[in-house]
Amino acid sequence: MRAVIYEGNGRIRLGERPVPVIQDERDAIIQVTLTTICSSDIHIRHGAVPRAVPGVILGHEFVGRVVETGKAVRKVRPGDRVAVNVETFCGECFYCRRGFVNNCSDEHGGWALGCRIDGGQAEYARIPFADNGLTRIPDHVPDEKALFTGDLLSTGYWAARIGEILPGDTVAVIGAGPTGLCTMMCARLYGPGRIIAIDTDEYRLNVAREQGLADVTLIPGQDDIGAYIRNATSGRGADVVFEVAGGADTFQLAWQTARPNAVVVVVAMYEQDQILPLPSMYGKNLTFKTGGVDGCYCQEIMDLISAGKLDAGFMITHRCGLDEIMDAYNIFESKKEHVIKYAVKP
Ligand SMILES: [Zn+2]
Ligand SMILES: [Zn+2]
Repeated sequence: MRAVIYEGNGRIRLGERPVPVIQDERDAIIQVTLTTICSSDIHIRHGAVPRAVPGVILGHEFVGRVVETGKAVRKVRPGDRVAVNVETFCGECFYCRRGFVNNCSDEHGGWALGCRIDGGQAEYARIPFADNGLTRIPDHVPDEKALFTGDLLSTGYWAARIGEILPGDTVAVIGAGPTGLCTMMCARLYGPGRIIAIDTDEYRLNVAREQGLADVTLIPGQDDIGAYIRNATSGRGADVVFEVAGGADTFQLAWQTARPNAVVVVVAMYEQDQILPLPSMYGKNLTFKTGGVDGCYCQEIMDLISAGKLDAGFMITHRCGLDEIMDAYNIFESKKEHVIKYAVKP
């Protein structure tokens, strides 16, 4: 089968691999019907993910059809359409029992797919712990609406959940890329008074406004972000801040725009160390919560998609076949053509 292979040292290529087989009775094999490229794949390509194993098939955000299940799998059967969770988790360890599946202590626990074990930029994929890692897609939900369940929507949903948003809150979201947009979409579920989206990319900010995700959009360097947010909140600052950009100075922007006693959720994946200037923020009594996602809410997310309360399908701006995925990588990485997300059909 065709698959995107990480060769190490920032090199990836489209190559041939054998179709995966069941290795454990809790595995399922799925035929990938739609897959995508995530900014984490770009981080791997940059060599910024030391855990990524050379030789691994990339891809951790995909949907498919179950073709085979191990004999311990209960939740799905061959023929089912499923969304795949970005994280693999056993469901039984200390962390899993508390919902902290990102730190599942199984050797394949956490973000393993497309990083430490073969993922879904391929025609077929093996999903360990299939009962935890697969969510059935209702018949009326097309693949394009379900594609982001396991990673982007899981991240936005998890971030909004730990952000402790109260009705009426002023929420600032730094970064209007795919994860930022999903974070805004999920933050909406909590009834904030307003969502302020901050990004340097005007096109993405327009998308956030047009989709009804952001009430206000601000551009660093062009708008005085601190002054705007202070004016809008009687001088206090944002009640909840989500840092989803991972830029050179966006972490600083996050804590500076937060009001005292705010929750600052750091969703971004940085390629460089960040500075936490504790003397400057002393007395501000901030609560920082950091990534990565605990992706164990896929059923809730699918229920919300099914009911039309979450719809991330608008993020698909580009479509192609697996044979064209190397070009797609280049366009996605350089953010050409106003790309937000690709839908890639194997
Ligand atoms: Zn991802
Ligand atoms: Zn576990």
